[in-house]
Amino acid sequence: MFLSPRESDLVSMPETCGVRYGATLLVVAATLPVAITLDHHGIPTAFAVVLLAVIFSVWRFGTGPGLLAAILAIFSVRFFFLMPSQTIDPRLLDDEALRRFLLYVEVILLLWLLASAQRRGQEKLKRSEAYLADAQALSRTGSVSFIVPEGEVFWSAEIYRIFGFGSQVSPAVQSMLDRVHADDMIRARRGFYYLAEPREAIELEHRIVTPDGCTKHLRIYGKAVRQRDGRIRVSAAMMDVSESKRMSESLLKAQAELAHVTRLTTMGELVASISHEVNQPLGAMKLSAQAGLRWLDRESPDLERVGASLNRVVDNANRAEDLILKLRNMAKKHEIEAVPLNLNRIATDVIELLRGEANERDVTCVVDPEPDLKLVDGDEIQLQQILVNFVMNGFDAMAGAEHREITIRSRNGADSVVLDVTDSGPGIPENLKDRLFDAFFTTKAHGMGMGLSICRSIVEAHGGTIDAFNNEDRGATFRISLPLSEET
Ligand code: ADP
Repeated sequence: MFLSPRESDLVSMPETCGVRYGATLLVVAATLPVAITLDHHGIPTAFAVVLLAVIFSVWRFGTGPGLLAAILAIFSVRFFFLMPSQTIDPRLLDDEALRRFLLYVEVILLLWLLASAQRRGQEKLKRSEAYLADAQALSRTGSVSFIVPEGEVFWSAEIYRIFGFGSQVSPAVQSMLDRVHADDMIRARRGFYYLAEPREAIELEHRIVTPDGCTKHLRIYGKAVRQRDGRIRVSAAMMDVSESKRMSESLLKAQAELAHVTRLTTMGELVASISHEVNQPLGAMKLSAQAGLRWLDRESPDLERVGASLNRVVDNANRAEDLILKLRNMAKKHEIEAVPLNLNRIATDVIELLRGEANERDVTCVVDPEPDLKLVDGDEIQLQQILVNFVMNGFDAMAGAEHREITIRSRNGADSVVLDVTDSGPGIPENLKDRLFDAFFTTKAHGMGMGLSICRSIVEAHGGTIDAFNNEDRGATFRISLPLSEET
């Protein structure tokens, strides 16, 4: 069996075998003269001193040395219970002396057996404590148990490491609360108060700050039960999840980078149709300006018409500016930030951005918005990216279809906002349904297969769900549901 260093320290004796047996001999040799002297002074329980030596040897040096002490004790019986003339050879003892001798041998062996059993129990307990401590260190989980109101606090060794307590710190709930991050204090206290009544398991997360200034994320599973004496006992497992938090944060960052690159790739693909979109208002501006000049050039300039032409110039300039701004935002590498958003507006923006591409591919794009759509908390650019991806996939899917239409429909769910992007293409083949959202899954000759996988990461990071299914008549629907904004 593999024993870790900590466990083997606890379970086995640090001394070598020879030292333990030697020390046992010394212990028995030291107690014998004491016992014999007490016996000579007529003290009837003098023999108990030798018995104590047996118990001590088992407890301190182990069952083997304890057995040696027991054998020595059996030999010492002669001094206490037999006549000086008698030997301890059982064959030469009379009946009465033999009976007494056997009785004391039994007592000594029984004591040795009991002491050995107790030591084995102790070793088992220490071993399981060591396993538990190792498991707690490996999983970075400490355990705490206390009575409410605060009293009788127990915590495991791992709590010292997680909270950065010195070994001199005695377990106390307040010491743990003192380490809670100032911004999470209300949440942590609420958790403690919640456990002041019997509760089934609750889960809580908060940060702590250790004395060296390090911030750690703790995930806590706690429950409170009423004891027979009426008091509430809280038991909790505290897991240091800082490492996995850091990893999921860097994963999110990597995903955001990937999302950015994919966005740029999509925009690269769209560059012709997008420049056409921007060109349109520029062309309109030119025409309006020329018309205005013509109205000015007349003998009696028609100022009203000149004004109207200039207004059209301004309108088109605004439209071009708006489009360029949206494009710049899409291309920008930005920090993800969640703000309250109306998905209807995002749907309209995306359709506007892709209008050129839709015209080129002969697709009708429709937005069917719920008028009182509730807000969601989200990152505008990332949510736009999801819709761009759904719509572009729809365009690709409908390439060979006779009727080409994309509808973005929004509606309020029970506790979410639901957005459907429906196309009139061939739909999703039954055997591919489970793989659509896998990274690198594509059925297109030049596809990357990252679009839907990125959409899923974005939706999950927003606490929402993503789904795809075939429509009853024709085509597929891609659906996202996002939780309502806290401001709704
Ligand atoms: P890519 O577009 O690079 O293939 P995606 O992850 O966006 O990557 O899409 C993965 C696959 O899902 C596509 O190759 C296609 O087979 C399927 N798919 C996506 N959208 C639709 C749709 N609207 N109808 C049918 N199949 C679709």
